[in-house]
Amino acid sequence: MRELWDGHAHLGTEEERAFRERERIRTMICAGDPREAAELEALSASWAVKAYGLHPWKADPAALKAMEPWLKRARIIGEIGMDSVWCEVDRKVQQEVFRSQLELARAEKKPVVLHVKGMEKEAAELIREYPGTYLVHWYSDPNWLDLYLEQDCYFTVGPDVAKNPAVRQVACSVPLSRLMVETDGFGAVKWALGEELPLNGVKQALENSMRWIAEARGLKPEEVYRLTEENFRRFAGI
Ligand SMILES: [Zn+2]
Repeated sequence: MRELWDGHAHLGTEEERAFRERERIRTMICAGDPREAAELEALSASWAVKAYGLHPWKADPAALKAMEPWLKRARIIGEIGMDSVWCEVDRKVQQEVFRSQLELARAEKKPVVLHVKGMEKEAAELIREYPGTYLVHWYSDPNWLDLYLEQDCYFTVGPDVAKNPAVRQVACSVPLSRLMVETDGFGAVKWALGEELPLNGVKQALENSMRWIAEARGLKPEEVYRLTEENFRRFAGI
């Protein structure tokens, strides 16, 4: 059985983790707060590539302080960013927490996973001040994609590529050396594609996205499998 490469997900349930292990889904897991970070660190799983970063939904000075040891230990920082759609955390606090983590990532030359929901333009302008290696996860805004392409970012194509024109735009226009696919975890796949999906929906979502990219870019599915692996490895340094 060949490996699949899921560029973005979370800890999920034990059942989901067992599924990823059994199905050989190499997965970048983002821990978004100190509690998740401790849980992720304790996870012994060869399929998991671990990233640590204070999520914008949890942005708060005390949480940032508690997150610092994890940020120092991290090989990949994320997911971090800003969100004006799905959370009510003060915008200024979000920005300060985001900047602190960008600063640390730049100083230590660590790759960064970005969450930019509703704040696409602002976040793109902000990261210009911190040149580095970025992965924009599940980009889904019809605008501002160019601002990230100019900065040579990586992107993960979200599981709703077949029905979301903004996600399709990513699949169609991002350089092939910068494309990956992601699920954002089983919960997000269900949210995007249907609450009744079985766990196998995780695998199907990745395969569907790769098939979709292959058709859109005139490639063989094999080539897309290969490039999602290469891009994942290059970004993560593995
Ligand atoms: Zn996520």
